[in-house]
Amino acid sequence: MSAANTSASSGTLVFYSEFDDFDTWKRALLAQLPNLRVLRADDIADPAEIDFALVWKPPAGFFARMTRLKLIVILGAGADSLASRDDLPAHVPITRISDPNMARMMAGYVLFATLRHARDIPFFEAAQRRGEWAYKHPRNPEDVRVAVLGLGELGALAASELRRQGLTVLGWSRNPKQIDGVACYAGLDALGSVLAQADIVVVMLPLTSATRGLLDRARLEVLRPGAALVNVSRGSIVDQRALTELLRTGHIGSATLDVFEREPLPPHDPLWSMPNVLITPHLASVAIPASAARQIADNLLNVTRGGDLANRVDMAREY
Ligand code: NDP
Repeated sequence: MSAANTSASSGTLVFYSEFDDFDTWKRALLAQLPNLRVLRADDIADPAEIDFALVWKPPAGFFARMTRLKLIVILGAGADSLASRDDLPAHVPITRISDPNMARMMAGYVLFATLRHARDIPFFEAAQRRGEWAYKHPRNPEDVRVAVLGLGELGALAASELRRQGLTVLGWSRNPKQIDGVACYAGLDALGSVLAQADIVVVMLPLTSATRGLLDRARLEVLRPGAALVNVSRGSIVDQRALTELLRTGHIGSATLDVFEREPLPPHDPLWSMPNVLITPHLASVAIPASAARQIADNLLNVTRGGDLANRVDMAREY
């Protein structure tokens, strides 16, 4: 049942995010659940009165003494920010946000970044800076092979959209998948061959203990000379130092990076000044209150009634 038009749920929700606007989220939640009490973290008088938490990167100890907590909602798609904390109350379910608008926004970024590489735009940007009319014949889209690592809610849509542009798309995930027009591979044994075939690699994996450092130097060296890398998931999946060196030698021709091992990327990091790197500050996709509030409200109602939760994070699997 949708939460819309129901005022059944009451309770207290605490909101914490340094990046998202409290008032916008409060309005969106109250439009779904008018009886919900929505508080900023700073306004909590007694942690024991909190029923639900809607959070992005809460500080250490945040959940301590929230003895009535029934549900933690991550204000984003990745669960890695809650990994290895010692204040998570046992048995409190955790959900994340995963909605079509977020997937569409991410697919838009991936399309932009991938087509930019596929159409050699960094080459033309450099030529323009030199004031040079440098003709380079466009490649047939089908001759450009893009590997999408991670075929979840975000990766699967991005892979389909890339295919719609006529690019040759390979996909890689943990379990076998079927996506129209996409050559899907699964498991660690297949990764080397997927990387070796790719002209452009798009990283769309969650950060887990299995994916941390997955694209290490040896795997980055498997890439074809001049290949491009797009990372929109988490910086720590890629060995940033090895990536920087391979970008410097040109083995990796160019990169579009939305995420980094350390964020904000420190001011003196060499990536800032590399002409073949495009940097954006972790915003490839964001949760949109108006569309995400409904799934959050449904989960708040369901956790109270003992119903099924959508987008539940499996903390054993770490995503
Ligand atoms: P999902 O959980 O829906 O999908 C994850 C995908 O990665 C699945 O296909 C899964 O395989 C695969 N995967 C997980 N572990 C492995 C592994 N060890 N080996 C191979 N494949 C693996 O995640 P989303 O698509 O919703 O999001 C992906 C990530 O994007 C998020 O975790 C987050 O970190 C990042 N993100 C970044 C944003 C940004 O602005 N930069 C915004 C939103 C998200 P299987 O299908 O077999 O389970």
